[in-house]
Amino acid sequence: MTTPVIRLDGVSRVFPADPPVHALTDVRLSVAHGEYVSIVGASGSGKSTLLNTLGLLDKPTSGSYMLDGLETVGLNDRERTSLRGSRIGFVFQSFHLLGYRSAVDNVAMAELYGKTGRRNRLERAEQALEQVGLGHRAGFRPDKLSGGERQRVAIARALLGRPALLLCDEPTGNLDRANTSGVLDLFDELAAKGVTLVVITHDEQVSRRAHRRVRIEDGRLWEEALCA
Ligand code: ADP
Ligand code: MG
Repeated sequence: MTTPVIRLDGVSRVFPADPPVHALTDVRLSVAHGEYVSIVGASGSGKSTLLNTLGLLDKPTSGSYMLDGLETVGLNDRERTSLRGSRIGFVFQSFHLLGYRSAVDNVAMAELYGKTGRRNRLERAEQALEQVGLGHRAGFRPDKLSGGERQRVAIARALLGRPALLLCDEPTGNLDRANTSGVLDLFDELAAKGVTLVVITHDEQVSRRAHRRVRIEDGRLWEEALCA
């Protein structure tokens, strides 16, 4: 058996308040290499808390989170930041692109602050753009791109360091139907290439495209049966 990319065991997150808020309760989740999983839930169900936990932006109150075989709960901030940078590619609802830089520069930005090898950075950024079908837009600034193209640039940027996990937070939240469908088609292609994808969304249509669907309700996870 190979090591899962994600393994959460008995994870809870309680926010101190009066009364305390149980945002995640006894969460167990295992995601294998190459899986394409969606986590779907309504507003207030705990999606952001789970995303922050998976992305090493927040620590569980209790439980274990192994990322790519490494226990993360005892790590200090510097170790978590370094692990996050090397293992996780983030895709957010808003694309966070620099308006005055070309698409390829925006992708290459992924490594500006990292310690990973910077050799051939632009060349690899161009390859990443090709991987998302935007090789022909490398020199374009974001304002010359559609919303879907901008999100694909952000996805290329997230893929640059070859992360173990592509962690997406409402990746189509700012997109219309046509652009949403382009991004979801790209997720299919990435999944077919073996990229491990976790997509967190409130959108049932988006979640249905994943190969495995997990529902979050009141901070608890439920595996959903896949009906055709
Ligand atoms: P979602 O992203 O699905 O809307 P969240 O993870 O943001 O859900 O929130 C889950 C629950 O935890 C909600 O009841 C929310 O009010 C609460 N919560 C989130 N963050 C905090 C916080 N920092 N302090 C207190 N309660 C919080
Ligand atoms: Mg949220």
